Amino acid sequence: MARDPRYDILFEPVQIGPVTARNRFYQVPHCNGMGHQMPEAHAAMREIKAQGGWAVVSTEECEIHPSGDVTPYVEARLWDDGDIPTLALMCEKVKAHGALSAVELTHNGYTASNLYSREVPLSPSPTPLKYGYPLQARAMTLHDIREYRRWHKNAAIRAKRAGFDIVYVYAAHDLSLAMHFLQRRRNQRTDDYGGSLENRLRLLREVLQDTKDAVGDTCAVALRFATEEFLGEGGVQNAEAKEIVQHLADLPDLWDVNVAAWYNDSLTSRFGAEGYQQPFTAWVKQATSKPVVGVGRFTSPDTMARLVREGALDLIGAARPSIADPFLPKKIETGAIDSIRECIGCNICVSGDMTITPIRCTQNPSMGEEWRKGWHPEHIPARKSEKRVLVVGAGPAGLEATRALGQRGYEVMLAEAGEQLGGRVLKESALPGLSEWRRVRDWRVGRIEPMPNVSVFRGNELGAEDVLAIGADAVVIATGAHWVRTGIGRAASAPFIGHDSAQVFTPDDLMAGRFPDAGPVLLYDDDGFYLASVLAEVLAARGHEVHYVTPEDTIAGWTANTLDYRHIQKRLRKLGVHLHTAKTLEAFDGGQARLACVWSEDTLRLPVSSVVTVTMRLPNDALYQDLLARQGDWQAAGITQVRCLGDAEAPGLIAHAVYAGHRFAREFEAAPGENGDAGDVPFRRVRQRF
Ligand code: ADP
Ligand code: SF4
Repeated sequence: MARDPRYDILFEPVQIGPVTARNRFYQVPHCNGMGHQMPEAHAAMREIKAQGGWAVVSTEECEIHPSGDVTPYVEARLWDDGDIPTLALMCEKVKAHGALSAVELTHNGYTASNLYSREVPLSPSPTPLKYGYPLQARAMTLHDIREYRRWHKNAAIRAKRAGFDIVYVYAAHDLSLAMHFLQRRRNQRTDDYGGSLENRLRLLREVLQDTKDAVGDTCAVALRFATEEFLGEGGVQNAEAKEIVQHLADLPDLWDVNVAAWYNDSLTSRFGAEGYQQPFTAWVKQATSKPVVGVGRFTSPDTMARLVREGALDLIGAARPSIADPFLPKKIETGAIDSIRECIGCNICVSGDMTITPIRCTQNPSMGEEWRKGWHPEHIPARKSEKRVLVVGAGPAGLEATRALGQRGYEVMLAEAGEQLGGRVLKESALPGLSEWRRVRDWRVGRIEPMPNVSVFRGNELGAEDVLAIGADAVVIATGAHWVRTGIGRAASAPFIGHDSAQVFTPDDLMAGRFPDAGPVLLYDDDGFYLASVLAEVLAARGHEVHYVTPEDTIAGWTANTLDYRHIQKRLRKLGVHLHTAKTLEAFDGGQARLACVWSEDTLRLPVSSVVTVTMRLPNDALYQDLLARQGDWQAAGITQVRCLGDAEAPGLIAHAVYAGHRFAREFEAAPGENGDAGDVPFRRVRQRF
């Protein structure tokens, strides 16, 4: 396919200081939970992006000194020369595909907790550590400032030796000393580094100059800068940011601009649409002659080309869109726009960093598996035989199993009970704020439809007899799960009294259009993730007074891992939702609910006319159990294996279901070791050397 000439502008080279990016696609720094601990896995993940056409591929944050140790988070590290080889590996792999590599050097000051190094944290002024550890950072002396500049310079020199083309100075996300000195709320100094803007800016200017002096002959020096913190005068505001950009204008070779903190930068699609940062960053280009890169979950080539044409950006920055589809640039370049696997803005990728585990992605099941399983986002081994596979259920698990088996060349029959494909994704994407989630379904259906070897049967609810009659060689049961009505979940192992009332509802009821009668509703959340808060919005919009009750000490606690937490808190308060924490639901009589305090003998009675429970799901595995019970009939039917996967096996994230479907397809008839497995361990591991 040929490239659409409207997108030619995206493939122009861009000069960045002494180096040239081959096009305008720029993978900005992003965490991945692998960092310095899993260098091979990290390098392989970055390599795939370079292969996919990104002109620049960046690391995540890269610590420059043990006094800025962000443990338990796993990022990159250039503390001393011994750290060079692990990052040199990434540079070598990225360069092999014609891309530039960039490193985001940082000292995180009081936002590093030094849990591993046990150094005393540093800050412009005394302050408690940001991440809640009961320790404070001390104010840096002038000697400390000189030392910090020396560490940064040495790390830049190491970065150059590792092979990096672009070296960052980091003043974004509320995460680095250079930014902390800028922030009035962090900097109460009365010396040359505090007070006036000129003084607060001094350190950033010095570090930029140091970096240019140290490595600027061959490396571009980029400044990652937050133009807005949404904190009023205590934070960096657009007005002051404009002054800062004017002051520094052409000192960096590249401006990488975004908004802070991370929860505002990596906004989920529920709280911000593509391009949401433009109002806060588009002006930067007017204040500098140097190239500007910006982000905004860009997946549409039309938006990208427009932003370049309008003079808002020179380079299209992407973290999440490059995670969901490492081949996004190549697909635009080759005119394969429809095959772009668009990011859905769910931030499951972020949850890897937050839970200190390798990155994963809802849309791209190969993310984080490039090295340990040898998975490639675009390629998959061809089929090994003529075997036919029946997939039952077209939710994310069934769709991905079908798509990937189809890509391998197997003959696949996909049977779906409903008239529409998509399962839970179709239902949830109809809820407020979640419309982009539909992309999980749309991308897969779009791939499957043209496959001549895949047949899709809608409106086909299969029973065991049907499955046996079809006579496929292998059967995949991906029939999903349903929410329980009983209130049973983490906190309760027995049903609450009154759970069988007609005025008790589940998320499935609401998503199917069965709503409570008018009156106050008790929304009981023992799930702790996003869904209850979304349903609170639905109920509030329908005019209900909503009482959000949870046994946990906070509402929607797990959403801290997807950076939604603060936005949810604010939204529910704005909607006037009543929040009740540390309470379990004991009884409901149609007019009143009785709650028990988790920490005491206290009870609370709420006058409510209905209850919605969001506690746990049970697998829809009746078909699977029926087939297991008839294992004696498999051979006559030609069936060699029946596998249950996705929510039908163990309800979880959409990402779990996609991964399960993909894994089945990869492992189907695979030889031992083909997916990185060895013995009982299903992937390659990094071992410490003894
Ligand atoms: P997952 O997240 O594991 O993919 P979903 O709940 O999203 O699960 O999707 C399950 C899909 O399976 C739904 O679309 C549902 O209609 C379909 N399904 C359930 N039981 C059957 C069956 N017996 N035959 C065909 N399709 C089924
Ligand atoms: Fe996008 Fe979600 Fe994948 Fe992150 S996990 S890249 S937000 S689709």
